[in-house]
Amino acid sequence: MTVKTHSFKIDTNKNFEIIDITSEVNGLIDIEEGIVSIFSRHSTSAIVVNENESGLLKDFEFMLANLITDEFSYQHDRIDNNAKSHLKSFLLSSSECLPVKNGKLDLGTWQSLFFVELDGPRRNRTVTLTMVGE
Ligand code: ZN
Repeated sequence: MTVKTHSFKIDTNKNFEIIDITSEVNGLIDIEEGIVSIFSRHSTSAIVVNENESGLLKDFEFMLANLITDEFSYQHDRIDNNAKSHLKSFLLSSSECLPVKNGKLDLGTWQSLFFVELDGPRRNRTVTLTMVGE
């Protein structure tokens, strides 16, 4: 059993953006069987798994915007005007831990892996992969 790590950078273009990173992560996996942790090193972003269907991705954005709205004032905005971005990140997750089979993510037919930008646009968002397996 070995442990291998890789990281890669993402530049984002919008305040809220969902980026499919399935192919990029598959290209960096260098174990045949095991697990991989995909971790975003930022508190205003997320890593999620779901279906890459354009209507659904709009629905996801709509849901988050309606859960965390401008209706309230947030304390973090007193020091850094991005409380809503952090709160959306709290609701999601900064990482996923996924199975690897035959050197690729072993996802279901309708599943993709996404980086979610919640406070863009930003340069050099860093995603770290930690692989455990053989
Ligand atoms: Zn902040």
